[in-house]
Formats: sequence, C-alpha cells, structure tokens
Amino acid sequence: MFGALEAGGTKMVCAIGEENGKILEQVSIPTRMPGETMPEIIRYFKDKDIKALGVASFGPVDPDPASPTYGYITSTPKPGWHMYDLLGALRKEFPIPMGFDTDVNGSLLGEVTFGASKGISDAVYITIGTGVGMGILSGGQLVHGMLHPEAGHYRMIRHPKDRFEGRCPYHKACLEGMASGPAINDRWGVSAKELGDRDEVWEMEGYYLAQACMNLILTVSPKRIILGGGVMHQEKLFPIIREKTAEMLNGYVKTKELEDMEHYIVPASLNDDQGIMGCIKLAADAYHKENPTGMSQNKTRNTEEHEPVRGVF
Ligand code: ADP
Ligand code: ZN
Repeated sequence: MFGALEAGGTKMVCAIGEENGKILEQVSIPTRMPGETMPEIIRYFKDKDIKALGVASFGPVDPDPASPTYGYITSTPKPGWHMYDLLGALRKEFPIPMGFDTDVNGSLLGEVTFGASKGISDAVYITIGTGVGMGILSGGQLVHGMLHPEAGHYRMIRHPKDRFEGRCPYHKACLEGMASGPAINDRWGVSAKELGDRDEVWEMEGYYLAQACMNLILTVSPKRIILGGGVMHQEKLFPIIREKTAEMLNGYVKTKELEDMEHYIVPASLNDDQGIMGCIKLAADAYHKENPTGMSQNKTRNTEEHEPVRGVF
C-alpha cells in the first residue's frame, strides 16, 4: 500500500492506494496554517502502514533532490507556507521512501500512468482553475530544469475585444491573469460556472488557451496536450481551443497528431483523481528506487507501465 498527498492551496487530499492506481480510501483536509494542518495529515497516515509516500504540492516548490531546500514550498504568498519544509515535516514522522513534485506534474503523471494518455512519452498538462499551472513530460521524464516550468504565466496577446487588465500580481495580463477562473469572474462580474451560455466568454477564454497550446507545440513538441481544472468543466471550450490552435499555427507544423485535434487536445480522464493517482505513482517510483528487486519484478510484469518516471530532467 502506498500513501498519496495532494497538497493544494485550499485542501489537502490524503489517500491510500495500490500500485495499479486503485484508491482504497481518501480524505480531504482544509488547508489552514501548517501548525494546524500538518498534524491532521500526519494523524491520517500514522496507522496506515504505508510503504512509501508520494507528495504533489502547490508551489512554487523545490523539486531538486540535490538542493538544500528540496521538498520545500518556496515563494508562495499563502500565509504560513512561505519557505515551508513540507517534505521535511513528513520525513520526521515517516522514515519511508518519498516522492515529491509539483501538483500539476502529479496530475500529468496520473494521466500518463493510469489515464487515457497512458504510455505517452511526451505530454503537457495544463490545469485551469484558481490559478493556471503546467506540467511537461518529455522523453518519458518530468521536466524540471532549473526549477520547474511556469508556463501558466506565459505572456499573452490581448483579445481585440478584451478590456480586462488582467489579475496576475506579477504580470497582470499573463495566461493566469487572463484565463484563470477568478480572471473570468473579474472580467465578466459573474462566476465562471454561471457563464455557460455566454459564447463570447468562451471564445475569449479559448483564444488565450489556444495561444498557450501553440507556444507549447512550438517549444516542447508534445504528442498530447491534456487540459484539466475547474474551468475545463466547460466542455464547449475544447472545440474552440482546437480550432483556434490550428488557426494560429496556420499549417506551419504538420504531424499526424495535429491532423487529429480531437485526440491531441484532450480533457483529463480520471474524474479529477488524476492528481492523487499521480501521487501513488510518485510513491511507487520512490519505493522501487530504494528497493530495486521490487522494480525488476515489476519490469517482468509490464515494462512500459512500470518504468519509473525520473524526477530530474
Ligand atoms: P483549484 O484550482 O483551486 O484546485 P479547481 O480546479 O476546481 O480548483 O478550480 C476552481 C476554479 O474553477 C474556480 O475559479 C471556479 O470558478 C472554476 N470552475 C469550477 N467549476 C467550473 C465550471 N463548471 N465552469 C467554469 N468554471 C468553473
Ligand atoms: Zn503571471
């Protein structure tokens, strides 16, 4: 059994699961101050007899195992969590292997391990919710580079009809500043959930998300783009984004994937469990890294499925 912690800015999801991705039980704990929230998380896992723990966290985080602040939540404005040693707090209590990554890399890992994008070696996951986050898998490895990709803050070309100034505290009109759930809310004065029948809202939203898809195609060359998060519950966005992405690329990149846009830009497929399932995979990888015999047994079962995704690019 493996433990999974999806650490979010509003809630901490804790779960126990099996290596095949099956979640056996799951609880959600509101994210308050670390002094209150961490003991609750620790209490949950204390009597569970887990072999390893996978943690995917809101950030920015430090995912570099060689860094002195590995496993920290770093420059978040969230009160109490700035430079917080999340992994360290858990390690003090549980002397077991632990995997650690960004929340969005967790969701990406869930999708490429257990979801409709299983086995794809080059994929991008964008979450469009309270913020916009992006995870990249390239050649079977999660990309970190010097920190981790922050393409949720891509600079945007403004929609000709958009008068909204943007709400990112750093860049105003970046992707997150223009296309997150709260940005939609601020622009139109109504919550994104209640704007379902306003075509102009989704045409504008699709325009920004298509810019992000185009930039990703040009830089990362993913074989698939997965879009998740609360805002993507508006399914009508998918055809708009596919069409505008193709329009913006204007035929410049020609691949078999881009000829089949419906299977190229796709929704998350695991009923919003992709994040927590990705944490199970992080835990399993950490476990097999420290117990190599376990890994070779798995390899004889199914090499591709259980190939660990290494954390450092
Ligand atoms: P978080 O990003 O906090 O983890 P979500 O991914 O659920 O959480 O995103 C929450 C955001 O998604 C909110 O801004 C909300 O307005 C928006 N949202 C949630 N459901 C919908 C919906 N059905 N249609 C449009 N926007 C939605
Ligand atoms: Zn920004």
